[in-house]
Amino acid sequence: MLWSELSSQPNNSLRLAVIGDPIAHSKSPVMHNAALAALGIVGEYIPLHVSRQDLGQAISRMKELGFRGINVTIPHKVDVMAYVDRLDESAAMIGAVNTIVNENGYLTGYNTDGIGYVRSLKDETHVSLRGKSIMVLGAGGAARGIVHALAQEEPKTIVIANRTEDKAVQLAEEWNSMGNIYGIAIDKSTSFLTGMDIVINTTSIGMHPHMDQSAIDPECIPTGIIVSDLIYNPLTTELLKRSHERGCTIHGGLGMFVNQGAYALEYWTGMPAPIDKMRQAVLQSLQN
Ligand code: NAP
Repeated sequence: MLWSELSSQPNNSLRLAVIGDPIAHSKSPVMHNAALAALGIVGEYIPLHVSRQDLGQAISRMKELGFRGINVTIPHKVDVMAYVDRLDESAAMIGAVNTIVNENGYLTGYNTDGIGYVRSLKDETHVSLRGKSIMVLGAGGAARGIVHALAQEEPKTIVIANRTEDKAVQLAEEWNSMGNIYGIAIDKSTSFLTGMDIVINTTSIGMHPHMDQSAIDPECIPTGIIVSDLIYNPLTTELLKRSHERGCTIHGGLGMFVNQGAYALEYWTGMPAPIDKMRQAVLQSLQN
C-alpha cells in the first residue's frame, strides 16, 4: 500500500506499520499481525511503501492518523532520525532508528536490532557473553547495532573484521570507551580466530540467492565455538552448515528478526510479546 492512500480508522483500533522501499518482501506484517491476534488486540500492522523524498510527509501523515507504532527499514533507518521528536540514547549512539513509538503525537525513535539480536543469541544458545572474545564480521548498519548491544554485556574483546578495513577501525575507535574493541581487515581475520568464543556474521554474504558463499573460510573457525549469522534467508547459511559440521553451536538470523519485532511490540503495547507465535508465523511465511 502507498502511504498517500492512508485514511482514518476507528479510534479503538491499534494502528501499526512498517515503512521502506522496497517493502513488499517484508515479513514484519505477517509476524506482527499474528502477535496482535495472539494478544487479542484489535488492530492492524500494514506494510507501507515510502520513497526517500516522501519520508517526512509520510511520517507526519501517520502521526496525524494516530499510528501508535512504526517500524523503519531499508533505506530509511538513518534519515528518519530527523523526523522524530526524541531519540532513545542507544538509537542516538547507533545512529539508526528501526522503531518509532507515538505517544499522543510525540515521536520517540528506538533501535531494537542490536538488543533483539543479543536476546536471541542468549535465549537460543544459553551463552553468557561476559568475558567472552567475540569476532563480528562486517561493519555495516546491522553491525553497529550489534556491537553496541554486545558491548553492554561486558565481553573480554570484540574484534570487528570488515572488507573495508577503515570502516572497522573507525567503528572500533568510536566505541572503544565501551570496552576492548578492535577493527581489522577481514582478510587478516584467520590469525585472530584462534581464541575466539563466538563469531558473528553481519555481512550479506551467503544470503539468497548466493547461498554457497561465506564471509570467511569456515575451516578456519575453531571447533566447538558459537557461530552466528544474521541472515535468515536461507535459515541455515553455508557458514552455519559448515560450522555445524565442525562441532560448533550455530545460531541463525530468524531469532534476531523475531526479537527486534518483539521489543518493538512491547514498546507499543506494554505487553510481553508472544515470541513463539511470531516465530511460527515468519517460518510459515518463509516456507510458503
Ligand atoms: P550494510 O550496511 O550494507 O553492510 C553490509 C556489510 O557486508 C558491510 O560490512 C560490507 O563490507 C559487507 N559486505 C557486503 N558484500 C560483501 C562482499 N562481497 N565481501 C565482503 N564483505 C561484504 O548491510 P546491513 O544492513 O548491515 O545488513 C547486513 C546483513 O544483515 C544482511 O544480510 C541483512 O539481511 C542482515 N540483517 C538481518 C537482520 C535480522 O533481523 N536477522 C536485521 C538486519 C540485517 P564493506 O563495508 O566493505 O562494504
